[in-house]
Amino acid sequence: MTTDWRCRHGSRSSCIKGCSWIMGNGLKFNIFIGRNSQENDVMKPFSYMNADMFAAYVMCTTQDKDAVRLTLEQIDVIRRMCTEYPELEKHSVLILSKMACLISVEGGHSIDSSIPVLRMFYQLGVRSVTLTHNCNTPWAETSSGYYPNFYSKRQNNSLTDFGKAVVDEMNRLGMLIDLSHTSWATAHAVLQRSRAPVIFSHSSSYTVCNHSRNVPDNLLQMLKENGGLIMVNFHSAFIACKQEASISLVADHFDYLRRVVGAESIGIGGDYDGATGFPPGLEDVSKYPALICELLRRNWTVEELARVLRLNFLRVFDSVEKVRNSLLKTPSKNTPPCCRGGALSPSLSPLSWALLLLTLLHPYSSTVISG
Ligand SMILES: [Zn+2]
Repeated sequence: MTTDWRCRHGSRSSCIKGCSWIMGNGLKFNIFIGRNSQENDVMKPFSYMNADMFAAYVMCTTQDKDAVRLTLEQIDVIRRMCTEYPELEKHSVLILSKMACLISVEGGHSIDSSIPVLRMFYQLGVRSVTLTHNCNTPWAETSSGYYPNFYSKRQNNSLTDFGKAVVDEMNRLGMLIDLSHTSWATAHAVLQRSRAPVIFSHSSSYTVCNHSRNVPDNLLQMLKENGGLIMVNFHSAFIACKQEASISLVADHFDYLRRVVGAESIGIGGDYDGATGFPPGLEDVSKYPALICELLRRNWTVEELARVLRLNFLRVFDSVEKVRNSLLKTPSKNTPPCCRGGALSPSLSPLSWALLLLTLLHPYSSTVISG
């Protein structure tokens, strides 16, 4: 493959983040690295790995601009990569002789407030969408303050009617709803709304480390009732709330989460290359055995770890598709009104308003619009 599907951190407005989520085969697993800090260390053996979710990610600065095009380009590269490597299998987690190649879109701004775009992403193989990245969208809130200028003046809009329509449509399509990066209020609203299990694909425990990217206990309880997953993020700032962390502290998150929600609600979401700074000895996915050893030492059972590494994610994926199957006769809806980019807002010039009014009043306008 000739396309450079890697990208250097921060050097492009978009990049693919591989191997955030891992599903090993029981306790035996080896690692595929989509990309890490050593740019040359791109591919490692696939053996024992059954699936990888590649994140198509475009920066928040593309919101209301070219986010859809850039996301499509990311999806294109992932699809080509999955096609050109015979070890990969698109869209399926059932063919165990190959590694499933799944696509996630990380950041709701990538759909540009368009449910048809969401549907087309599904057609292209996207099976998970993180509802926000580090910016608000017109319909959901982020946990981050990085981009305070995006839709910051909304009130009581943690999940607008359009946001609820996005959740409903993801349920209907059979897409995983990912709540990492969303505000707690948005996560709460989604957990109340979604008929299918949801995931926090790369977040840790707020009680162990009080960072806003982590998940507080009240949401964990809702997540357990929902049947979803919290997939532990290994980034030092989310593990220790400072730059130095350790494998032992990561294991503390696992221990705490097991006490609160049980091993059946936990997964792994390392966030390699989504972040910089990881505990010594856990710098990339090849080091996961060190964590597993620590958990075994803390009396985690082989069955619990098999769930964490593989079975929990498969269960959630299966549940999401069962909900989809139950909704098969539910027709797709027209896009409800939304508010992206202040379109149709008073910011339109008087001349633009006049032209728009004339167009709408024109006798052929309905033909023009429907065509
Ligand atoms: Zn992320």
